[in-house]
Amino acid sequence: MNKLELDWTRCDGHGLCGTLLPDEVWLDEWGFPVIRNREITPGERANARRAVLACPALALRLTRSVKGDS
Ligand code: SF4
Repeated sequence: MNKLELDWTRCDGHGLCGTLLPDEVWLDEWGFPVIRNREITPGERANARRAVLACPALALRLTRSVKGDS
């Protein structure tokens, strides 16, 4: 299962992730991302990877866990 995670200690609120992944990320009133906490489907993975690579603060990552992990 793939999920998008955000490192708040790095995020500068550029908002690029919200532009690249509008179905996964909303921007709050200050331009900081609110990430939808759900699985990234195989069809969404390429766009999610693109957003991770495009983040200028290296604050996003795509994690992978085995089903049943806590
Ligand atoms: S692109 Fe990166 S730095 Fe910009 S809002 Fe998204 S996570 Fe934060």
